[in-house]
Amino acid sequence: MPAIFPFTAIVGQERMKRALILNAVDTRIGGVLIRGERGTAKSTAARSLAALLPHVRIVQDCRFGCDPDKPATWCTECKERAAANKKLPMGERATPFVNLPVSATEDRVVGTLDIEKAIQKGERHFEPGVLAAANRGLLYIDEVNLLDDHVVDILLDSAAMGVNTVEREGISFAHPARFILVGTMNPEEGDLRPQLLDRFALSVDIVGIRDARERMSIMERNIAYERDPEAFRKQWLPKEEELSNQIAKARELVDQVKYTTRDLLSIAALTASLNVDGHRADMVILKAARAEAAFEGRTKINDHDIALAAELALPHRIKRTPFQQAEMTTEQLQERIEQLAGQSMPGEEDEESESQREGEKEEKKT
Ligand SMILES: [Zn+2]
Repeated sequence: MPAIFPFTAIVGQERMKRALILNAVDTRIGGVLIRGERGTAKSTAARSLAALLPHVRIVQDCRFGCDPDKPATWCTECKERAAANKKLPMGERATPFVNLPVSATEDRVVGTLDIEKAIQKGERHFEPGVLAAANRGLLYIDEVNLLDDHVVDILLDSAAMGVNTVEREGISFAHPARFILVGTMNPEEGDLRPQLLDRFALSVDIVGIRDARERMSIMERNIAYERDPEAFRKQWLPKEEELSNQIAKARELVDQVKYTTRDLLSIAALTASLNVDGHRADMVILKAARAEAAFEGRTKINDHDIALAAELALPHRIKRTPFQQAEMTTEQLQERIEQLAGQSMPGEEDEESESQREGEKEEKKT
């Protein structure tokens, strides 16, 4: 297999890259939907992101790559072994990249419990599916709009919950299924149902690059890569390592990022002013803003983080009208946040929000 085209060598498409990076910093954000024509580097970007992500610590012989540091998320097998006082060997692995086949069935995705064996021999036998393979990795779904709705539903559930539980006839098996979900679609080949659309945390519309200089860079880099993939990869390695380290640091930092009542009000005022239905967008903006702050090495979110997050969380949640462009730039969003802040919250101090103080109490208890 030739060396993978480096993520950091992809020209332009800043929104797509940012959406992918934020999900890599915090997989709890809940995935990204990339909309655009064929041949716009969507799969290259997803594959190359997985390739540069830092290695993670795992329970060495676990089929699901459980995280040794988070016993609460362990699979049924690791939990049973720990309960029996068996030592769990530690290891390390790279980030798996899993490409979901379009023909995937529910069984193939969630895995199967062999009930025959359970009845005959009293053994529990679980055959892992795609969700198991994707745990702590990147799950790539090409043309998600062509996939069976029910299967998409299951994938989005798992992306949100981080766990896959299979139950049959009183026997159950659970394993962690926390991954970076990347779906792509070509809008010309049919749309996703609005209910499914809203459950993708972020979305990005890919547009062709019109800047001549950027197009020139694309040609130059593609030619260099085609001529000698290994040499090209080596040339970009320092940049790849730099980004990988930055993501690793942000992962450590993200749970320490603080937000204030004012930040929450900014988010709420922004989504309310844009007539966004439901509350999922607000949560997504908060989580993505937190990841953005961590990515920049900060432990407090600011209006710019919120604007960057909103730019990714809103395009698929705002109804398009002839008079309103669905896409707003970061600058427009930030201006709007500042305007709204002036109207609705005079003199708010940077006090920590109530929910965050509650959250901290919870953390101390455990
Ligand atoms: Zn395990």
